[in-house]
Amino acid sequence: MRALVTGGAGFIGSHLAEALLARGDDVFILDDLSTGSVENIRHLKSCAKFHYVFDALQNRHLLAEMVDESDVVFHLAAAVGVRLIVESPVRTIETNVNGTQLVLEAASKKRKTVFAASTSEVYGKSTNVPFCEDSDLVLGPTTKGRWSYAASKALDEFLGLSYWKEKGLPVIVARFFNTVGPRQTGRYGMVLPNFVSQALSGEPITIYGTGKQSRCFCHVNDAVQAILRLVDSGQAVGEVVNVGSDQEVTIEELAQVVKQRADSSSAIVYVPYDQAYEPGFEDMLRRVPSLEKLEMITKFSPQTPLPAIVDSVIDHFRGKREVLTTDAEAEIALLARAVSEAGGTATP
Ligand code: UDP
Repeated sequence: MRALVTGGAGFIGSHLAEALLARGDDVFILDDLSTGSVENIRHLKSCAKFHYVFDALQNRHLLAEMVDESDVVFHLAAAVGVRLIVESPVRTIETNVNGTQLVLEAASKKRKTVFAASTSEVYGKSTNVPFCEDSDLVLGPTTKGRWSYAASKALDEFLGLSYWKEKGLPVIVARFFNTVGPRQTGRYGMVLPNFVSQALSGEPITIYGTGKQSRCFCHVNDAVQAILRLVDSGQAVGEVVNVGSDQEVTIEELAQVVKQRADSSSAIVYVPYDQAYEPGFEDMLRRVPSLEKLEMITKFSPQTPLPAIVDSVIDHFRGKREVLTTDAEAEIALLARAVSEAGGTATP
């Protein structure tokens, strides 16, 4: 298969590119490096089947050519991270809405399958946990910047599903729930890389709010497995599917796990939301996915336990090779090695 990955130099995109190469696919990535990094794909550059272009989706001719070359488009390019969203709402809205529109338009001309990455953020302030794909979305007011991300992604979903309904374009929408792992940067506010970098440098670990808010953290390798299975199954076309783990942990507990696994002497401190983000910032208390649909379609659900997830991030920050913790990861590594021995792909 020939796959185009927009945002392929990003956190999830680079892991997806790696897994596609590992199973022998040709991979083309298009990334403007706005939040992604060359570092994320340096180890893939020598692969004969890996092709990369650093440019924006707005380069329509290039996008059209790259879509033509591919059988499937994984659209992961987006503005993500609560800090980025609060600080640069214009960029968030424009990147997410315009980018998806351009990808769908280009894919539609050649009827190429599009996998569109959305986010659990679209469930907003809903308290109806676990979140099912057909549940109501409960967003805050437009005066609060945070909700622009959810609204922009919800619009992307509407657009993708409309391309399917109206034009028959095969589109799959996946809502990612707090995906974490090696290569995720803390620069845009994500909690796990922040905590790990604080713990390793002995700085205070900063819990925003009370720390009683909870999330479910999913290892990126599990998320990648889910993506591949969703696309391969053929049953997810025209559907919205949650992708994540359902192991719930409070942010306070997460801070403790990180401190302990990193063997850190950092203090744990509490920072009010209005200092961490902006006055009037609204957070959600619980965010738990229903994984029924994912399991039904893919026969898979993310299983990497939290301590192993945290260890993989700690190892990454320490500059070590990523630890192989799950069957899925071991499988990817084995495949990568086999492909590499047979003709030249890099190992993860
Ligand atoms: N958070 C925190 N300390 C940090 C960064 C984030 O306590 O240094 C909190 C944040 O307020 C949220 C949770 O951790 O309640 C998860 O934040 P993240 O930005 O990773 O993802 P979100 O679930 O908000 O999209």
